[in-house]
Amino acid sequence: MHSDLIGKIEKARRYAEEPERIALDEIMVRFHGGNNDHSVRLGHGRWACDCEVFHLRGVCAHVMTLQKALAPMLSAEAREPGPIIIHSELISMIEKSRRYVHELDRIEIQALRARFHGNNNDHALALTRTGWSCDCSTFRVWNTCAHVMALQRILAPMLPAIAREPGKVAVEEHFVSALS
Ligand SMILES: [Zn+2]
Ligand SMILES: [Zn+2]
Repeated sequence: MHSDLIGKIEKARRYAEEPERIALDEIMVRFHGGNNDHSVRLGHGRWACDCEVFHLRGVCAHVMTLQKALAPMLSAEAREPGPIIIHSELISMIEKSRRYVHELDRIEIQALRARFHGNNNDHALALTRTGWSCDCSTFRVWNTCAHVMALQRILAPMLPAIAREPGKVAVEEHFVSALS
């Protein structure tokens, strides 16, 4: 029966309220800025953005926005503010990122790697162009799991349509609605 899957969905709901269980190690994002799209990355605790401001200052409104939006899932290192910059520039970046953080549809997560602190074990999750993966046993059977579902819920507004899909499992209508 599907009772196992129902249990996982309930677990995912609880997990989605506990984003601090997730440690984002790497993320690749397409950021739809005011004028251009930008590519933002996090890896080894360091951020990078291909915008001009980041190139000049080592920090920008795009990185600041992601730091806010993903805060509970980031390491202390990845949460650190960038280098000291001119006060007026900093103010305008902060203002911009305050606005952006309410416009999360500007952010499109293309790939990520994360660790999930489950009740018993830690699990390694990834999102790539081909979809989600998790190293837990449930994922092997169902092609989805409470860890992936929780992350889908938490990151929903920032995920492309394909990454919001409930997985390859042949679910009945009410499972789909339970996931949304
Ligand atoms: Zn930027
Ligand atoms: Zn899993």
